[in-house]
Amino acid sequence: MYNTEVSIAFKNADNTITKIDTNIFELKQLDKKYLDGTIIINKNKKFLCISMKCPFCNKLHSYNYKLKEVLCKDLIIGGCKNSGNFILLIGKKEMVYSIIKERRHINNQIYSTI
Ligand SMILES: [Zn+2]
Repeated sequence: MYNTEVSIAFKNADNTITKIDTNIFELKQLDKKYLDGTIIINKNKKFLCISMKCPFCNKLHSYNYKLKEVLCKDLIIGGCKNSGNFILLIGKKEMVYSIIKERRHINNQIYSTI
């Protein structure tokens, strides 16, 4: 059995970070609950698709992840190709939180996408 708990964090236009602890089954409801269309989450049986308006370059970035990957990996980072910053984190609670804590002090550091 997989651990279905997952945390998601994303950058806002004012450079703050929104963190949400949820689980894989509730992910799809998040966009309506939290974000006024800044982030759009779609999930089907196999894939998780996230589109979000980038706070750095103002373009829409889309990410597709296999659900299996989301559940197995400790951390997935969605980056902005244009600015080199991360805008989206998905993964285990502790991992997501530790990245946020780290980055808060070095917000402007270039981060390459994985
Ligand atoms: Zn961008």
